[in-house]
Amino acid sequence: MFGEFLLRVEHLSVEFDGFKAVDDLTFYAAKNQICAIIGPNGAGKTTLLDLITGRTSPTSGEIRFKEADIGGLRENQIVRRGIGRKFQTPSVYEALTVFENLEMAYPDARTWLSAWSFRRSEAVVKKVEEVAELIYLKDKLHERAEKLSHGQKQWLEIGALLIQEPDLLLLDEPVAGMSVQDRELTAALLLELVKERAVVVVEHDMDFVRKIADRVTVLHQGKILMEGKMDAIQSDPRVVEVYLGH
Ligand code: ADP
Ligand code: MG
Repeated sequence: MFGEFLLRVEHLSVEFDGFKAVDDLTFYAAKNQICAIIGPNGAGKTTLLDLITGRTSPTSGEIRFKEADIGGLRENQIVRRGIGRKFQTPSVYEALTVFENLEMAYPDARTWLSAWSFRRSEAVVKKVEEVAELIYLKDKLHERAEKLSHGQKQWLEIGALLIQEPDLLLLDEPVAGMSVQDRELTAALLLELVKERAVVVVEHDMDFVRKIADRVTVLHQGKILMEGKMDAIQSDPRVVEVYLGH
């Protein structure tokens, strides 16, 4: 429907006081594919996500999503176009239950008009339960988020994004700090989620990346050092030198 690619980033650059954090970067993401972005700290990974989501304005270059130029749009407009982004640090509403956290994410959840519609609330409950099942929290729906483990909080945050049915999911280091078992479950979750969308994951955990990634992009000093299958990446001397060797 959108050619081969849902997201097309071309010749994208951003400069902060003369420092090029992202430098003439071209990158594509397709439906049903998980792209992993790896690279040393400061390589520009998070900045790339900031640019795609409208948090940072590019100095030059183009960002197209579903063929439309989204380069000048504001963050909330980009969310509505179908891009969901998870930040590095988890942010859930600790005092609210899992159900309430997911419900809050439902589009227009807080307008009084929608709160009065019975049909709508049925739809919300159905969606919340469906998402809770996916993120392994179906039996925790009425627990407060503060009671959840670190891994469960990360899933809850992914769940809040899923409520909005994004076509592109951007995840910044989703398994950092997670137990080995939770990493496995997160890998399985992403493999499920990609059946209906495109997924871009920034991650340092190479075992995790190997399990999920269709394609790996190595960033270094704002540029793409290499792109390809995990096996080729892991045996590339340049990648070992700037990243994997450390
Ligand atoms: P990564 O996520 O790969 O570790 P970042 O994208 O966070 O790296 O950062 C890339 C570089 O850009 C770093 O040197 C960082 O200090 C710089 N940087 C990122 N955002 C800003 C900003 N808003 N202002 C100034 N410098 C920034
Ligand atoms: Mg980062």
